[in-house]
Amino acid sequence: MKLSEDIVLGSTLIPMKRRNFNGCAWGMVAASHGQVGGAIIASLGEDWAGWEKISKAFGYPWAGRKQAQFPCECWSPGEVPTDSVASVIAHLFDFHVCIPYNIDKWTLEQLAYWFHTQEPEEPSVQCEEAVEGASLSFA
Ligand SMILES: [Zn+2]
Repeated sequence: MKLSEDIVLGSTLIPMKRRNFNGCAWGMVAASHGQVGGAIIASLGEDWAGWEKISKAFGYPWAGRKQAQFPCECWSPGEVPTDSVASVIAHLFDFHVCIPYNIDKWTLEQLAYWFHTQEPEEPSVQCEEAVEGASLSFA
């Protein structure tokens, strides 16, 4: 599964709650894996473990390392900050998906699509060469 797919799947499993690991975008990722976001955070044993540790604990370590520019309209032109994809996820969900009066309102699908554009390529599957003379038997 990809991060963008997990968010969409998770949104069908739990209610959305902003600024809460049981219902935020990361909570949805956890739910899509049959887990509870708040329990994952509690298992880290720190008040604030940082996005690198958090994204690793949720199964997507690249999201804590990869940097991205915020794609929203919260910033002045020329002053758009860069942060980890994991942090951008939290911001977009908390301030653009969950706040209905935000002028720059995003749907969950828009959010998932943006993450899709950030995701690393999945490694291609390579098949081994068939061994000459080998045969399969199905008993
Ligand atoms: Zn924003």
